[in-house]
Amino acid sequence: MNGGQAGGRPLVAILSGAGISTDSGIPDYRGPQGLWRRDPDAEKLVTYQFYMGDSEIRRKSWRMRQESAAWRARPNGAHQAVAELARRGTPVRVITQNVDGLHQLAGLPDRKVLELHGTARAVVCTDCGARTTLAAALERVDAGEPDPACRDCGGILKTATVMFGEALDSEVLTQAIAITQAAQVFIAVGTTLQVQPAASLAGVAAQHGARLIIVNAEPTPYDDLAEEVIREPIGTALPELLARW
Ligand code: ZN
Repeated sequence: MNGGQAGGRPLVAILSGAGISTDSGIPDYRGPQGLWRRDPDAEKLVTYQFYMGDSEIRRKSWRMRQESAAWRARPNGAHQAVAELARRGTPVRVITQNVDGLHQLAGLPDRKVLELHGTARAVVCTDCGARTTLAAALERVDAGEPDPACRDCGGILKTATVMFGEALDSEVLTQAIAITQAAQVFIAVGTTLQVQPAASLAGVAAQHGARLIIVNAEPTPYDDLAEEVIREPIGTALPELLARW
């Protein structure tokens, strides 16, 4: 795939992290105002073993999903700028650490988005793998099932996200590396590049000769490898940057 270009335009790969969605009202759980600083159960709620082993944690998870603004959030100008880039015909692939589905809601086709950590908009059975939407599961919670079980097999349901204690989907990771190796431009946006393996993609991109551009408020371990580091707010910086392609 290396060096492949479509219509003479560069392949733009965008690695997005929590910072691209904060303008949509989705908190960065790890940030200074993040959930983890406030709720003593927060880490259990996102850790597979605790979630599977404790129905009280699951009930609390469903309550929080119900109350969370996250799944009602709307894409912001940065998500829209990425979707617009694809609409202009520029070859673009998004690799996202986010589970909020906002790239697709902004109009980016599903096939152009690789969700490293899965999606919180779908629910999956941990036994039989049956999938449903979060909205459908939340309707059952609303109707009085505090910990809804799989309708097919009675198994435990969870969001289709990669929790702590779960491995990343190796096929998704393989695709992410292939996209990164093929990209002529690699933009890391709203990610501190500290969580592996997503972070190392920036290194892979630089190794394969991509122009590495980092858009993030705080320094990252890969800033030295970048051709350009942009510290301005993502909501204005990304649309301006993407206008180049
Ligand atoms: Zn099932």
